[in-house]
Amino acid sequence: MNKVITGMDRSKSYRVYLAVTTTMAEDARLIHGTSPTATAALGRVLTAAGLMGLMMKGNDAKLTVQFKGDGGAGEILATSNAKGDVKGYISNPMIDPPLKPNGKMDVGAALGIGMVVVIKDLGLKEPYIGKIDLVSGEIADDLTAYFFISEQQSSAVALGEIIETDGSVRAVGGMIVQMLPDAKEEAVEALEELLDRMPPVSTLIDETCGASAGMTEKAVMKALMDKAFNGMPDEFKVEALELRDIGWKCDCSAERLEQVVISLGKKELARIIEEDGEAELVCQFCRSRYHFDREHLERLLLEAARKK
Ligand SMILES: [Zn+2]
Repeated sequence: MNKVITGMDRSKSYRVYLAVTTTMAEDARLIHGTSPTATAALGRVLTAAGLMGLMMKGNDAKLTVQFKGDGGAGEILATSNAKGDVKGYISNPMIDPPLKPNGKMDVGAALGIGMVVVIKDLGLKEPYIGKIDLVSGEIADDLTAYFFISEQQSSAVALGEIIETDGSVRAVGGMIVQMLPDAKEEAVEALEELLDRMPPVSTLIDETCGASAGMTEKAVMKALMDKAFNGMPDEFKVEALELRDIGWKCDCSAERLEQVVISLGKKELARIIEEDGEAELVCQFCRSRYHFDREHLERLLLEAARKK
């Protein structure tokens, strides 16, 4: 299942974005052939990028989240838009450091010391760019710090997964809770208390989806939100606002890759035609292969020459 439910509490103190992205994380695993730790890391970044994309307004808005560290995973990058389309990659899909003493996958060790960069292109002249040093490299902590430092937004980010022993994805999802400008102090306190004792989001998803036979996706998402916020005082109870789509989608195309080839310039293109006589480009997001034969390259060379 891939779905997001949004909500707001009765006192308008905080807003919730809650996602189940199990199918999207499994799609990414199959495309990139990721190790369990890389599946977890990429699943978290894709989920967070998807949620942050849905927070934006405007059909042309685009968001990029890039994690980069010295720990061997290399770069983990995801892009998304306001419609919930998400794609991404990890430079080293085989990274698989030893488990932590508590038996959990060590995404922080896979990333190491580094930065997270968020780029929001809202269709204005300049994109918004925010970057901070990684806090733990566990993704959720880093994004909580990002929201606070770069966007002066008090938020709580939770991301998590359950991976089967065969490496496939059993449950993946995440949640972003944002405090609103006129938040009531009692609501903030009650929320902090609740978040402290809330089970991991992956456990909540696994339990809810495991007992969802015969339910609509809307009912499942509603049940998940009720379960997560169970115990909030009545006046700060979350009420569901909307159900949104989220999922893997790569928008690469032969036309787009042609533009990449043309941008190499006529000198480089002439060299490729002369030396190789053909070219193959692989989309770094979905691994689709695009083959260009000599005739095709010569046509693109003419276009490149016309541009200069
Ligand atoms: Zn692609």
